[in-house]
Amino acid sequence: MSVLALARPEVLTVQGYSSARHEAGKAEVMLNANESPWLPPGLQAESRGMPLNRYPDPQSEVLLERLAELYGVGSSQILVARGSDEAIDLLTRAFCRPGVDAVALSPPTFGMYAVCAEVQGAARIEVPLTGDFAVDVPMLCDRLPRSVKLVFICSPNNPTGGSVALVDIERIGYAMRGRALVIVDEAYIEFSSSPSVSGLIRHHENLGVLRTLSKAWALAGARLGCLLAGAEIITLLRKIMPPYPLPTPSLGAALAALTADGMALTRQRIALIVAERERMSVALLRLPSVIEVLPSHANFLCVRFADAPRTYLKLLAAGVIVRDVGRHPALSGFLRLSIGTREENSRLLEVLIRHEVSE
Ligand SMILES: *Cc1c(COP(=O)(O)O)cnc(C)c1O
Repeated sequence: MSVLALARPEVLTVQGYSSARHEAGKAEVMLNANESPWLPPGLQAESRGMPLNRYPDPQSEVLLERLAELYGVGSSQILVARGSDEAIDLLTRAFCRPGVDAVALSPPTFGMYAVCAEVQGAARIEVPLTGDFAVDVPMLCDRLPRSVKLVFICSPNNPTGGSVALVDIERIGYAMRGRALVIVDEAYIEFSSSPSVSGLIRHHENLGVLRTLSKAWALAGARLGCLLAGAEIITLLRKIMPPYPLPTPSLGAALAALTADGMALTRQRIALIVAERERMSVALLRLPSVIEVLPSHANFLCVRFADAPRTYLKLLAAGVIVRDVGRHPALSGFLRLSIGTREENSRLLEVLIRHEVSE
């Protein structure tokens, strides 16, 4: 059975928009897309020969090739979207029939899986993380109802920072074969010592991996993220995606970051963040106001404070904003601290220490 049998039937028959850029190729006189023949006033931005008055490539070949090399997959196995957020939305729309199908997720986790399910009218089946914030593998393998079409696994998980072992992803993949897609969100994998599961998509047609340039690659403002999955799934999602999703300036920024120099700098920065994460974890644990620091494989720490709301306000008053994640019942008393530059992290520590002294 093809994995496409899991998709909504009406999506399978969608023709998809035939874009003018697609037909154009490299004509000298481009009069087929109702574009302006002039560059825009003000910004005369160009990116790799593509002027801003022209519609961009729906999926830039050069970018696909660079990403295929980076992620170790074929370029037909990549969908580039406006952030991995858009990929989550496209998957939900393509695979979940409103009022019939469901997505499975393991809270506390990233919020977009639930938001996209809600917008689509798909039910949410929650399989909470266990007491030590691990994914409940037996529950995901054996207890999900037939209505589940997408299983979202965030690894490393936002906001707790823990990872799911490769063997567990494979077990869930096997258990869901012919039933559901297993989507592993690796937004923070660059900061982890565990390998990506992208190598597994060759063996599991129902496995997809989300990657993003927003975190380790410092391109959150460019809005570029990917789904890595079998070519059939990628082709299906491209059909239901708006015609020109990738803005030309974003493409230019991504190609600049993905040069040899850009990659070397990014590797250094990742090492710095990981070192700072370890330094911060040790320093935080020495503070009497800190009860617990969850082990993290990401660029943040999830920290339990004796009085989290008060600590949050003290930090805010000192000009330091962190994320209050206490609205998840399992994370009551926790704040999520992103790892910044060494100076920024030290400033956070100083405020916390001052706060202890003044108690
Ligand atoms: C930040 C984040 C994303 C969003 O990535 P974009 O590519 O910027 O849309 C996806 N998943 C998780 C778990 C995140 O924390």
